[in-house]
Amino acid sequence: MHRSFAFLISLAFCGHTAAQQYDLLLRRGHVVDAKNQISAVRDVAIKDGKIAAVAPSIDPTTAVKTIDAAGLYVTPGLVDIHVHVFAGTGERGSYAGDNSLYPDGYTFRVGVTTVADAGCAGWRNFDEFKSRIIDRSRTRVLAFLNIVGNGMRGGNYEQDLADMQAKPTADMALQHKGLIIGVKSAHYAGPEWHPYEQAVEAGNTASIPVMVDFGRTYPQKSVAELVTKKLRPGDIYTHCFSGLRGELDPAGHVNPGMIAGRKRGVIFDAGHGGGSFAWRIAVPAMKEGFPPDSISTDLHIGSMNAGMKDMLNVMGKFLAMGMSVDDVIARSTWNPAREIKQEQLGNLSVGSPADVAVLRLEKGAFGFTDMYGARMAGTQKLTCEMTVRDGKVVYDLNGLGATDWLKLPKDYRRFNDPRWDGLTPNNPEGPGTGQKKKKK
Ligand SMILES: [Zn+2]
Repeated sequence: MHRSFAFLISLAFCGHTAAQQYDLLLRRGHVVDAKNQISAVRDVAIKDGKIAAVAPSIDPTTAVKTIDAAGLYVTPGLVDIHVHVFAGTGERGSYAGDNSLYPDGYTFRVGVTTVADAGCAGWRNFDEFKSRIIDRSRTRVLAFLNIVGNGMRGGNYEQDLADMQAKPTADMALQHKGLIIGVKSAHYAGPEWHPYEQAVEAGNTASIPVMVDFGRTYPQKSVAELVTKKLRPGDIYTHCFSGLRGELDPAGHVNPGMIAGRKRGVIFDAGHGGGSFAWRIAVPAMKEGFPPDSISTDLHIGSMNAGMKDMLNVMGKFLAMGMSVDDVIARSTWNPAREIKQEQLGNLSVGSPADVAVLRLEKGAFGFTDMYGARMAGTQKLTCEMTVRDGKVVYDLNGLGATDWLKLPKDYRRFNDPRWDGLTPNNPEGPGTGQKKKKK
């Protein structure tokens, strides 16, 4: 009774009687799609969770729901390949626990639709990570598997060379193709190359890239050696502007080893975090023509409220350093998607998953702080108006897709069509509706 009533209302208020070709149509936004080399005003139509058409003009009556995005950027859903989201285990002082965050509170509200956890879990605890987080999040959660079997549980575990084994790591990655998208080595403080060699061996077996947080350097264990000899083309050096491992040489120029590494095809990722981004490193590097290949947050409890804050804030830092909007968006969508070999993501090609961010470029007097609390002034920043995941609106800051309450019946209830609305659909399956009753 209630559902058919709601259906009648939705018909009355959308004015649609004919069958619609599309579920959702975002009109008149400025589309930035690096893969397809589009930076222009376009309409984007979505059907069954996939991008169905991108064109200069699409008839608004062909969609169940049409949303006007004029004056806003319409981009692929942002892809953040460095986060820590293995929350909920209750383990103190651990990235497989209290140092991590549940992803959904930090993603959709800033346009992020895909994250890659950067090594919180190793092969011993990946199943737990999958059942706790990956399987229960609305955000698309992928993972770099830590080369340490126990993952990122703290010093005793992460310095244990005996628990860094290529074989079980690769086996687990091969069991979860498309979910485990890389191997991570992080925080290793010793002089040995063993962690990186094992990670690369696992990466070779599973045909996935390696991401390295280089821990501590030694004369015999330098960044130059890592990126010119040890890593393969396509492997990822994260925290590239930390300055903690010789990213700039003593004269203040980009480490020639990093330039040589980039020439070989090694990838350089921002990985901002709580302690891995300094203006005094990033600004000279950018001036010398060494931008990051990908922009990522290194989201965790130590970065969420400090200089990092969120993906759009980190992107704003690159705008402040003079990078163009198109370049910033490419490095937050298509570049990271390619780096993790998930080329169905980070673009708006017809047939790709309909993950979309609707962003506003605000002008004003802003400021951005780094890992040391140093500030850079900026005149623009990106904010998120709307996020679409698999064709459904999952975040809508100002109600762009909503109907004015004064135009609704006095006793209105949920009326939006579940084909496009992932927040308040007119069916009882919306988010937060409680445990499913056990069948007797
Ligand atoms: Zn990290």
